[in-house]
Amino acid sequence: RAPSTVLSVRVAPVADLVLILADDRTQARRVEETRRDFVANVSHELKTPIGAISLLAEAVEGAADDPEAVQRFASRMQVESARLSELVANIIQLSRLQAHEPMTEASTVDVDQVLAVASDRRRVDADQRGIALVIAGERGLQVTGDAEQLTVAVANLVENAVIYSDSDGRVVLSARRVDDFDEQGIEISVSDSGVGIDQSEVQRIFERFYRVDYARSRDTGGTGLGLAIVKHIVGTHGGEVTVWSKPGQGSTFTLRLPEAAEDLVESDDESGSE
Ligand code: ADP
Repeated sequence: RAPSTVLSVRVAPVADLVLILADDRTQARRVEETRRDFVANVSHELKTPIGAISLLAEAVEGAADDPEAVQRFASRMQVESARLSELVANIIQLSRLQAHEPMTEASTVDVDQVLAVASDRRRVDADQRGIALVIAGERGLQVTGDAEQLTVAVANLVENAVIYSDSDGRVVLSARRVDDFDEQGIEISVSDSGVGIDQSEVQRIFERFYRVDYARSRDTGGTGLGLAIVKHIVGTHGGEVTVWSKPGQGSTFTLRLPEAAEDLVESDDESGSE
């Protein structure tokens, strides 16, 4: 700040300045607390699969003369180590997003492509659970952003929709353009007819490591970071995420994103093709 500016500061601006500084300090403290909580949560979450793997390794040693038991312990070790790698991958992804690293690839993104790739990534899980993945809504919509990050966000929502649904359920991915008086943009929704989320929990599910029912969620194999990642990705794209849910009926997560800048080439062959 130039000295001349300081000299011209009078009582009221100084009071403002003090307030701003105090606010900055609170903000800094909050950031520091969040960082500390995150580190504590990460350590706690990492300890669980690491502890399980080390117990299973001991169990394998003790069961050397029981091939069936060895087999059982070994496959549980695989499950726990897959969980560990998913957790580490999610933690790295979230820290990158939180460090506000600039978007590596900001370009025009085809929403159809995002929905198709995201549902393909979850197809094996969905098939295993007997859940149909359906793509519906408008076609040919475009947003601006990082195609891979947007695909990760949608795939995270589809993953949840699949794991929190009963078998034989249906998960619908859809897109539409919204152009109302007060709301514009492209909406991408993922709907399920699964367990739903209690109203009192909806606010908290986007927090890192927050799970509605820890025991049940752990069985389903998530990391508790999926929605925190979604929220960050949508935030860096200048969008927002909302959720509608009713216990026992299902949930719909909606991403609203700004539409891609208007330099779309008008194609006149659309009317002719069926
Ligand atoms: P997790 O890895 O545990 O799924 P998320 O951050 O993705 O973590 O989700 C946080 C919590 O929100 C979940 O543990 C679950 O309780 C709840 N949740 C998320 N998506 C759904 C859904 N589609 N239906 C019901 N509950 C959900």
